[in-house]
Amino acid sequence: MEYKVAVIPGDGIGPEIVNEAKKVLDKVGEVYGHTFNYTEILMGGASIDVHGVPLTDDALETAKASDSVLLGAVGGVVGKDKWYELPPNLRPEAGLLAIRKGLNLYANLRPAYLYKELKGACPLKESIAEEGFDMMIVRELTGGLYFGERWTKEIDGTVTAMDTLKYDENEIRRIAVKAFDIAMKRNKNVISVDKSNVLDTSRLWDKVVSEVAKDYPEVTLTHMLVDNCAMQLVKNPKQFDVVVTENMFGDILSDEASMITGSIGMLPSASLSDGNFGLYEPSHGAAPDIAGQDIANPMATILSAAMMLRYSFDLDDAANAVEEAIRQVIAEGYRTVDIMSEGMTKVGCSAMGDLICERIK
Ligand code: NAD
Repeated sequence: MEYKVAVIPGDGIGPEIVNEAKKVLDKVGEVYGHTFNYTEILMGGASIDVHGVPLTDDALETAKASDSVLLGAVGGVVGKDKWYELPPNLRPEAGLLAIRKGLNLYANLRPAYLYKELKGACPLKESIAEEGFDMMIVRELTGGLYFGERWTKEIDGTVTAMDTLKYDENEIRRIAVKAFDIAMKRNKNVISVDKSNVLDTSRLWDKVVSEVAKDYPEVTLTHMLVDNCAMQLVKNPKQFDVVVTENMFGDILSDEASMITGSIGMLPSASLSDGNFGLYEPSHGAAPDIAGQDIANPMATILSAAMMLRYSFDLDDAANAVEEAIRQVIAEGYRTVDIMSEGMTKVGCSAMGDLICERIK
């Protein structure tokens, strides 16, 4: 098959890590008989330098016309890079918001997986880390508190602020369907997280997710309150397979889950729209402190490309092969500087990409 992939290298380490992900996709193409055609898009500081804005309409149209988007990262250093002399709506990070909105990316997927060889980086007790964990947090990304009406005003001499939390049943249903579809590709277990003992939106969430569950008889659904979930993530992370939750709860819980893996350079993410379209990017930023030195860890971006193979192109075997190649490289003791420990072999960004490619069979 042929696939059109829009590629956004971005700023900082973005071009280096995206390059390695493309190398891996090309190796997958060779082994599994597919062709990935790339169109490069400027975004963030790289786009400001050329066009004066962090994302042009043309760039967005190119992304829309693709089968999926692979993004490195955007951004620089406030006070150092001239991009930050611009008003906030023209700074590099505004490109991220514009593309997420423009592509209608309403489902954010953040996996948290603990490699047994890297469990030393996990801040949890050894007895818990020993068990390992492998979860996928599915966060609603375009509704809820972050998008509701808000204001700050003085009422009878007292400064008062208000934010509104609103969800309709369609917004909940579409993210629930994504979560159950993902569970079907994993261990068929969904935990829906809400605060239904207090919030009306959560009671609606609970009801709609339970309705969607009826279409997935093979998947086990459990409801969990968000405060309990925050505790369970550090007490017994192994119990989670797919977690589905609303925007703000997902924002907080996905960061908590990534923290317990201990390694930012290993965390991929995906943001999905209707159908199979998605944008895939590492969870970390542009790391300007290490840009251009060939020392960045490309694995989060390569794992994001694996998610693209699985969720946008339905190439589960190829996705598994990439993930397995990464597990092998780690088991063989190769490390980039961010995950380096005594007795391991230190390699750079490009060498790490090569090692992973060699192991894709
Ligand atoms: P960051 O994730 O870029 O870096 C935090 C620390 O982790 C740094 O020390 C960095 O060197 C290290 N690090 C990150 N990724 C790494 C990798 N792959 N390999 C090895 N080390 C890695 O976060 P930050 O410093 O807060 O932000 C830097 C810039 O990135 C800012 O301009 C910020 O706005 C931007 N940012 C962009 C995104 C995005 O594009 N989605 C996300 C977060 C931050």
